[in-house]
Amino acid sequence: MSGKRVLVTGAGGFIGHHLVNRLVDEGYWVRGVDIKHPEFEPTRAHEFELLDLRRSENCLQATRGGIEEAYNLAANMGGIGFIESHKAEIMHDNVLINVHMLEAARVNQVKRYLYTSSACVYPAYRQSSAAVAPLKEEDAYPADPEDGYGWEKLFSERQCRHYHEDYGLETRVVRFHNIYGPLGTYEGGREKSPAAICRKVALAEDGDEIEVWGDGLQSRSYCYVDDCLEGVLRLMHSTHREPLNLGSERLVTVNELVEIIAKIAGKTITRRHDLSKPQGVRGRNSDNSRLRAVLRWEPQISLEDGLDRTYRWIRSMLQTPGQLMKADVAASQG
Ligand code: NAD
Repeated sequence: MSGKRVLVTGAGGFIGHHLVNRLVDEGYWVRGVDIKHPEFEPTRAHEFELLDLRRSENCLQATRGGIEEAYNLAANMGGIGFIESHKAEIMHDNVLINVHMLEAARVNQVKRYLYTSSACVYPAYRQSSAAVAPLKEEDAYPADPEDGYGWEKLFSERQCRHYHEDYGLETRVVRFHNIYGPLGTYEGGREKSPAAICRKVALAEDGDEIEVWGDGLQSRSYCYVDDCLEGVLRLMHSTHREPLNLGSERLVTVNELVEIIAKIAGKTITRRHDLSKPQGVRGRNSDNSRLRAVLRWEPQISLEDGLDRTYRWIRSMLQTPGQLMKADVAASQG
């Protein structure tokens, strides 16, 4: 038991909730902060505060009282459909959260601060083909990130760097590549492709057709949430201050993702492609060379294993009374 006092923001969200559980299991004293409680099970944080981190006084409250490590995961975000249609709101909220959180960490003398960036910082010109070259950390420049969410992430990465240079705050920056797993949003418009496809397949009968956004040939890599947590803790406790990729190196198309999930479900599924829906960049993969060198580790959980756990959880949620009708409506809306 280390008893170290740590803060997790975004502790009501998908990765933040898992991170709280992991840190509690490891003996840390954890304060969780979010604007909402976790959706699917109660938090295990020792203290959980509902705070809007767009306000500086709330960031000062969140970081008060001898917090040694701050894991800042709070963000207004969602899948590609959401981030492409809420650019102003996302940039407004996330700039405020991250500017105020960094300053509050400095004022309250937090020892280490981890910022959760994204593969969305990488330039569009390196992601125009499905057979894309894996992205190295230095590929982020010359900059042409996702136009909204991605620009904010790139700005906040730089802000972390300057807080170290100017004030000596120990900052860590992780670039997540499509993290998925149980206890994540799977309906309502903010869900990402693995959860959305698990939901659609779970609701389909054997032989049914499901809707897939784009032609399905767009490619991505997907990283299971337990691997994500391991990488986050290793990075936080490393000496590495530059941004670091955290994702899988296994590139699959969205069509392949559907096939894997259909196989797990034991169903024959056909696809109806909606070309009018956003599909993001054409291809994106993580180059983990630096991750291996810095963390002496790499993600371990196979896509089949991780999707199996995720599919079972989403199916069980859809089978609980009251869920089926709600999810049915969401599925029919795409
Ligand atoms: P999530 O949406 O499940 O969690 C984010 C949490 O932040 C939510 O619970 C939300 O309520 C909270 N939040 C939003 N606005 C807030 C505010 N004003 N004050 C306090 N809390 C607020 O998302 P997640 O998938 O758990 O992502 C966590 C972090 O990782 C985010 O910074 C996200 O941008 C980043 N990230 C995630 C992925 C991924 O694949 N999940 C990929 C790249 C980056």
